[in-house]
Amino acid sequence: MEERIEVRNPATAQVVGQVAIAGPSEIRDAVQRARQAQKPWNRLRFRERARIVRRFHDLILTRRNQILDTIQAETGKARRDALAELITVAGTARYYLSHGEQTLQPKRRRPALPAITSAELIYKAHGLVGLITPWNYPFLLSIADALPALLAGNAVLIKPSELTPLSAILARDLLIESGLDPHLAIVLSGPGETGSQLIQHVDYVGFTGGTSTGRKVAVAAGERLIPYSLELGGKNPMVVLKGARLDEAAMGLLAGAFANSGQTCIAVERVYVEEPIYEDFSRNVVDRVSKLKLGWSTSWDVDIGSMISREHANKVLGHIQQAVDHGARVLSGGRARTDLGAAFVEPTVLSHVDGSMSVAHEETFGPVVSLYRVRDSEEAIAKANDSRFGLNASVWAGKETYAREIARQLETGSVAVNSTLLIYNSFDVPMGGVKLSGIGRRHGEHGILRYTQAQSIVRSGALGGGYDSVLMRIKIERKARALVAPLRAWIRFPWFK
Ligand code: NAD
Repeated sequence: MEERIEVRNPATAQVVGQVAIAGPSEIRDAVQRARQAQKPWNRLRFRERARIVRRFHDLILTRRNQILDTIQAETGKARRDALAELITVAGTARYYLSHGEQTLQPKRRRPALPAITSAELIYKAHGLVGLITPWNYPFLLSIADALPALLAGNAVLIKPSELTPLSAILARDLLIESGLDPHLAIVLSGPGETGSQLIQHVDYVGFTGGTSTGRKVAVAAGERLIPYSLELGGKNPMVVLKGARLDEAAMGLLAGAFANSGQTCIAVERVYVEEPIYEDFSRNVVDRVSKLKLGWSTSWDVDIGSMISREHANKVLGHIQQAVDHGARVLSGGRARTDLGAAFVEPTVLSHVDGSMSVAHEETFGPVVSLYRVRDSEEAIAKANDSRFGLNASVWAGKETYAREIARQLETGSVAVNSTLLIYNSFDVPMGGVKLSGIGRRHGEHGILRYTQAQSIVRSGALGGGYDSVLMRIKIERKARALVAPLRAWIRFPWFK
């Protein structure tokens, strides 16, 4: 009998959909269909592939309400957080529509011997790309990384989180409605096991999720020697120094720590504040946090929605409780809101957190942020870097040159100055992590080139051609000797040795 996943809205506990689990035979069948469809797709010119992505871009804007409803239904998140997903997918599409063709174009490169040899770099699609994605941004993360993969000439198989498959299925259906061959993008729903089976068949795996799962994915990809990228967790620091505009920094922190109920890989979880401004800043933050509205609504009047599940809410509450048991103070929030639903947690600000507490060094992935006093910028940088993670950071320091100087010293894949989550919509620069936060980058030229293999084509005989004839080879050899006499000692054509 076919196994199915029941999808529930964590805010209301209502069943909002059911999907079939893809077993080994469905995966094999999808792989075969996708491989067949990929060949003619790859032969198309970029512009022909782009036409479909452009229609998809327009379609998601006209169908925005259906998309927002679907995202909200399976995550319980606030509508504004669902909108953030849509905006980022549209922005990613626009970016690669404008820049993808140029990035993928063959490039002339410096040859071994100028004038008589040439070197060209071309980018070839991997073939079949597998994307394994998490639940926190189910529409965005299932489709935004698929768009450059498709534009580069690949077929994609998407394994969304078992908690949130509906947004991925809708996104894929909208691609088909935009004119994509249905075999070029296939959603394979199921638990982690479905993801690990998928890795056995694809030519490239793009994984977004937790660090411990990322390790397993890397091992499986390593066994097959296929390329992969890992977009993993974070414990993202924010640094607030004298000279920073405190109102703006406090507002930035609210977005950075509590958007999407804190379930954002680049969310701020640690804030290092210089001693003289600590009290003002902390009062400012606490005052604003107390005004945030928590709840479930499909209108725009809620700031913070549900967390993804009761289990995850309990993990987050566990971090708070353990911290409090070890001496941390709750400046704001700190409680479950079971009156609103099974997985609501108040936006929480902690102080007096130390290294003995999980909340200090493990990814909490919920609406919890800790404030720390630091003596000066040096201590702030040292503490910010004292982490196994290295995804994103945020700096508020008044003068821009000073802030950028601090930013350069932070060990993270990205740093936002006077902002927190800005990297996600900065499509022209790479986004990804160092340390335990990942390997590889999305966005920018990295974000499309990762779906290709670079092939170098070097040619001898660029001068006059005819290099098949021995006579011509001799002529070329003579010309080369004349041109590069000083380098003669090491310039040798093998047939003259
Ligand atoms: P997760 O690692 O539990 O699951 C991610 C995906 O991997 C799911 O689809 C899951 O079914 C699948 N999976 C599980 N075991 C697998 C295996 N052995 N082989 C292959 N696939 C397997 O992560 P999650 O709880 O869904 O998401 C939360 C995590 O994702 C957080 O740590 C967060 O920081 C991270 N995340 C990172 C980014 C980023 O861009 N760096 C973005 C979003 C989320």
